[in-house]
Amino acid sequence: MHENKWEMVIGLEVHVQLATQSKIFSGAPVKFGEPPNSQACAVDLGLPGVLPVLNEEAVKMAILFGLAIGAKINTHSIFDRKNYFYPDLPKGYQISQFEYPIVGTGSLTIDLENGDSKTIGITRAHLEEDAGKSIHDAYPGMTAIDLNRTGTPLLEIVSDPDLRSPEEASAYFRKLASLVSYLKICDGDMSQGSMRCDANVSIRESGSNKLGQRTEIKNVNSFRFIEKAISYEVNRQITIVESGHLIKQETLLYDSEIDETRPMRSKEYSNDYRYFPDPDLLPLKLSEELINSIKNKLPELPEFRQERFIQEYGLTIYDASWLVEDPELADFFEATTESSNNAKLTANWVMGELIAALNREELKVSESRISPEELAELILRITDGTLSSKLAKTAFEKMWEEEKPVDDIIEIYGLEQVSDDDEIKAIIKEVLESNPKQVEQFRQGKEKVLGFFVGKIMQATNGKANPQQVNTLLRILIK
Ligand code: ADP
Ligand code: MG
Repeated sequence: MHENKWEMVIGLEVHVQLATQSKIFSGAPVKFGEPPNSQACAVDLGLPGVLPVLNEEAVKMAILFGLAIGAKINTHSIFDRKNYFYPDLPKGYQISQFEYPIVGTGSLTIDLENGDSKTIGITRAHLEEDAGKSIHDAYPGMTAIDLNRTGTPLLEIVSDPDLRSPEEASAYFRKLASLVSYLKICDGDMSQGSMRCDANVSIRESGSNKLGQRTEIKNVNSFRFIEKAISYEVNRQITIVESGHLIKQETLLYDSEIDETRPMRSKEYSNDYRYFPDPDLLPLKLSEELINSIKNKLPELPEFRQERFIQEYGLTIYDASWLVEDPELADFFEATTESSNNAKLTANWVMGELIAALNREELKVSESRISPEELAELILRITDGTLSSKLAKTAFEKMWEEEKPVDDIIEIYGLEQVSDDDEIKAIIKEVLESNPKQVEQFRQGKEKVLGFFVGKIMQATNGKANPQQVNTLLRILIK
């Protein structure tokens, strides 16, 4: 394949499930994991004689998002009916916004692995309601319908076709996920479908500025799979074009088990949906006053927090960007540093042991078995020399398992490092005396045997001798 002959062009449509208490046009609850068909009311189902009422909270969340991406908030927007037939859409139409969305053009800056950043245009973001769910694997030969999700508020965020690689697409998706959790407008739980992404993909000859025919991969709901799905799709398109065929505009599904995209349906065009303004809903008019009051509620956004972490704590760009991605993790880091007084070491422990332990048990930061204060105490025991970094890891494991403070763990397991010169000297002497052959080898210039001795000494102290002291004293005593 001619790697540089083709350029890929990607635009993402991300659906964010807004964390409201109730549905976008009704008072029915928005809750995950409830018994099927227990969470949708007559309005959600569009039964005759009911009327939708717009959820103010969903509107405020959309405005907050728009302000965070520096977008124009449209003070006049319209809800339309998007008409299509599907068993999980009993009304026969979805209420969405088409020509006049609530959020206009904005942008989002992403950080790339090589340290560069890139600004991605956002075309628009609009409010809409979710449909129900068709379940194909519950009953053999039948499809079940669960309408609990019907009417759940969604914010659909549409990017410009500015992304140029699978890595950029996944960085953009991650950045959006991070932003909506900072704004607290979405719980960010991908496994529950809180964020869903459709990827539009095309290729064109490098240097061309015309857009190629695109395909759309539906519902890729993980950062990793989005990269794999796009890579697969780009290669598929290159193969088709290079063999002299044309790309068909179609909607595809990505199957992560076999790492392949396959056709779902030929693409509908927007005029197939017969959009028209919903006669049951008035145009949405927003006052400047409301918009300004929401502006005042903007939290510290990840970019600013990252910059502050670099300035205030002396962290590297890499560490800072890693820590700020999840606001809860960033809070954890800051709370720990406040008591540990050692930002760099705290960053290492948070990004290393803590994340590893959380991931092992698939826990959220808020479910950590070790609190920021407890982690800070552990770090203080390293900086005051009580624990070697190796024993500190053991202490961390025990603290995690037993949920006890570090000083108790040190006491119970005798983890205190031996830093007493005389005690260490006595052990070194013993080890040297029982290995005269190796001592002779050292004296003849074989430096490498030092490692052998360090090993023996650590073994004799159950790993508790202070490694720096062992090294210094060993060099003196072996001469
Ligand atoms: P639709 O509403 O039919 O899905 P849009 O024009 O709103 O189509 O575009 C949807 C998404 O597709 C946007 O994110 C846009 O950036 C992206 N897109 C449009 N054309 C292309 C293309 N040729 N290649 C890649 N992405 C594209
Ligand atoms: Mg689309």
